Amino acid sequence: MEISLTPSYDNNNGWQEILPAPAEATVLTGDLTCDYLVIGAGYSGLSVTRRLAELDPSASVVLVEGDRIGNNAAGRSSGFAIDHAHNLRAKSFADAKAAAIAGVTMNRAGLDYLDQTITAHNIDCQWVKEGKYHAAATSRGEGMLDSFAESLDAIDEDYTMHHAAKCEEVFGTRYYTKALHAPHSYLVQPAAMVRGLAGTMPENVSIYESSMVKSVEYGTPHTVHTQRGSATAPVLVLATNGFTEGFGFLQKQLIPLITWGSLTRELTDAESEQLGGHPSYGIIAAHPAGTSVRRVTTPNNRILVRNIFSFSKRSDFTSRVSWAAKSHRKAFDNRWPELSGVPFSHSWGGALSLSRNGEPVFGELRPNVYGTVVHNGVGIARGTISGKLLAEMIMGEDSELLRQMQAKGRPNTNLPFQDLGVRINARARRLIAGREE
Ligand SMILES: Cc1cc2nc3c(=O)[nH]c(=O)nc-3n(C[C@H](O)[C@H](O)[C@H](O)COP(=O)(O)OP(=O)(O)OC[C@H]3O[C@@H](n4cnc5c(N)ncnc54)[C@H](O)[C@@H]3O)c2cc1C
Repeated sequence: MEISLTPSYDNNNGWQEILPAPAEATVLTGDLTCDYLVIGAGYSGLSVTRRLAELDPSASVVLVEGDRIGNNAAGRSSGFAIDHAHNLRAKSFADAKAAAIAGVTMNRAGLDYLDQTITAHNIDCQWVKEGKYHAAATSRGEGMLDSFAESLDAIDEDYTMHHAAKCEEVFGTRYYTKALHAPHSYLVQPAAMVRGLAGTMPENVSIYESSMVKSVEYGTPHTVHTQRGSATAPVLVLATNGFTEGFGFLQKQLIPLITWGSLTRELTDAESEQLGGHPSYGIIAAHPAGTSVRRVTTPNNRILVRNIFSFSKRSDFTSRVSWAAKSHRKAFDNRWPELSGVPFSHSWGGALSLSRNGEPVFGELRPNVYGTVVHNGVGIARGTISGKLLAEMIMGEDSELLRQMQAKGRPNTNLPFQDLGVRINARARRLIAGREE
């Protein structure tokens, strides 16, 4: 069958573009066979590939990526490697205490796997355990922080609450009135991380980039075709985010969104001094529809802004980028009016997939075809642990975490006019977020 939906990213992902240009891609040519074939080199694909290769060192594992590694959603993320749920719908966060604790444990297992790999291979990606701030700029946001704190208390998680003066000291702006610091998350340069993960695979892994899969023949074995070659294996893993739909699965079960980021040019020393505050931090808005920002000092002195979730068919990351950049400009100028002349050097969008009931895709999609999608905004942690557990499942391993992942619900079917509903909901949430955006 022809693949009906493939990504087409532009080359304006700031995280990728500020790194040295990658070596020329090894493109899939000719017809190869292997034991395990993984499509997609985001967090899920990199993790499932590494784990398959670790568990079966005598097997050949091939990873095929349509774009350059780092130019995908994984390399376009804001680099918050988060242990908690991303948003603060705090009332549900600890309603089911055991489920909340299990969710945090699952995410931390993903972060541990990344931490071990990054440390073992000395991957240079500014991976630091700085924690994350959830910051409020409105009284509604402050209320959400209080609810979040109650939820964290309920599951014995530590945090520190900061008031306005401390916010100004850390962030170099008076914009925020209250912030909750949770210490166990990491910050990372996401494109550097995925490039580093790909560059340090076990020896039995081969990676092909710029090799978009255009068609697939399911069978025993399965074969995928790219423009210049093909790959055949008895076991196929689709780590292709929402584009898994293009492979004939999950029709009307995924909600395709784009979210958008912008990165400033490097700040001058004078601008940094004027800004004040700590040299590195990451803020997630108290309201889920608000703006995330990061100050990134090493190796460049820049500020990242991310906001807006827009519904999309996932193939258009460019036509609305200037519209998103305007929203980033406004958010930046509101927070740091004294730096309003500092331009963004890059603005970009990237794909996210949600499901209506928030449940993930994990497991066998058809005989010997496996997949994992829907990481609910915490793709670094959840994509990584899902990929690792999927490899363990394929290899017949057993663990408490794997059983928990298998026991999760699965996405339900979208409603009629789901796209319209999502658009209206996104617009309403932006209005309610107000100054949190
Ligand atoms: C702007 C932005 C900010 C974000 N911030 C954060 C954050 O701070 N923290 C966090 O945890 N998450 C964040 N996310 C979410 C996170 O990036 C995603 O959840 C994550 O990338 C999903 O990982 P994945 O491996 O499932 O998919 P992806 O990273 O999208 O990887 C899928 C891969 O499959 C490839 N592919 C698809 N179809 C084909 C095909 N036919 N042939 C070959 N290859 C194919 C794609 O090119 C892609 O490389 C953010 C996302 C965006 C867009």
